[in-house]
Amino acid sequence: MSTILVLAVLSAGEVDTPTLELLTLARDLGEPVALVVGDVPAVAAATLGSYGATAVHAVDCPQLTGSLVTARAALVTEVATATGADVVLVAAGTENAEVAALVAAGRGAALVTDAVAAAEVDGSLHVTKVVWAGQHTVEAVVQTPRAVLTVKPNAVAPSPDPAGGRVPAVETRVFVHEAAREAVVTALVPSAATGGPKLTEASVVVAGGRGTGGDFSAVTELAELLGGAVGASRAAVDEGWVSSGHQVGQTGRTVSPDLYVALGISGAIQHVAGMRTARRIVAINSDPDAPIHRIADLAVVGDLAVVVPAAVERLRAR
Ligand SMILES: Cc1cc2nc3c(=O)[nH]c(=O)nc-3n(C[C@H](O)[C@H](O)[C@H](O)COP(=O)(O)OP(=O)(O)OC[C@H]3O[C@@H](n4cnc5c(N)ncnc54)[C@H](O)[C@@H]3O)c2cc1C
Repeated sequence: MSTILVLAVLSAGEVDTPTLELLTLARDLGEPVALVVGDVPAVAAATLGSYGATAVHAVDCPQLTGSLVTARAALVTEVATATGADVVLVAAGTENAEVAALVAAGRGAALVTDAVAAAEVDGSLHVTKVVWAGQHTVEAVVQTPRAVLTVKPNAVAPSPDPAGGRVPAVETRVFVHEAAREAVVTALVPSAATGGPKLTEASVVVAGGRGTGGDFSAVTELAELLGGAVGASRAAVDEGWVSSGHQVGQTGRTVSPDLYVALGISGAIQHVAGMRTARRIVAINSDPDAPIHRIADLAVVGDLAVVVPAAVERLRAR
């Protein structure tokens, strides 16, 4: 059976959702093995096991803190080689795309970024990805014995291993690599916390555009009510109404939530590129010809100032 190495991430000692999604996918491809940078508390090891990880490699590498991607890539390469991994899975993201590319180059492996599905068919790895502003779906067949995939958050529904419950062995490694000294990060400034879920991981995103006229209070209120994250069009970001971390689209974040609510967003192709794969799209826009209505599952033609407060009232009454 193929060994599938999953780059796992713990947040405040708990396994994050994208990792659970990767493990769920990994189970379909072979035997999942998790790689974690740092300590793995017993409860996190149990979670990794319940999602199918048969072994956990906990790597102690102080050099990784404050270093750029080369050291991380060298670490993943080393563990992939040590475990004989056929496939390496990492969550899609800017930094991980670099890590994945370096690992693939180092191992002579195929690289497929932004995958939304993968399966073994007749002994070959078939990978699905969405390209060109979400207008095309690509089916790729890996031609090499090894592969590295970056997988979009929310593309796979995380589910515990039905045969799970095993507690995987945790192997601790120490990793030292010269690459960690090549470039060091001198400052890391977190953006202001919103209190809600991370935009790229949220199952609900409520996004505002130029149609909000700069008042994001309704966007924020609806997002809070639905337990979602706040997104924005580039127009709203360029106007300075919200910070760039909220931008969804070609030059912003890519999101695939269960529900995407677009408020006063026209649906330009560059915006749609970042949210087209949402499972359900609700658009509220006063222009009946706005392109966003064409991709919406529920298209509400109306003024935000009227529709959103009414929706909020109904939600609060529940
Ligand atoms: C290279 C490049 C990269 C880009 N990358 C991105 C990107 O990553 N993300 C992105 O979003 N854009 C991106 N853009 C910009 C993109 O082309 C659009 O200009 C932008 O998405 C428009 O934002 P918007 O929909 O908020 O504004 P508009 O297009 O101005 O639309 C505003 C909408 O609000 C509606 N509206 C107005 N008032 C109300 C009201 N009271 N109630 C309800 N509806 C109302 C209007 O009918 C209209 O449809 C990029 C452009 C380029 C060239």
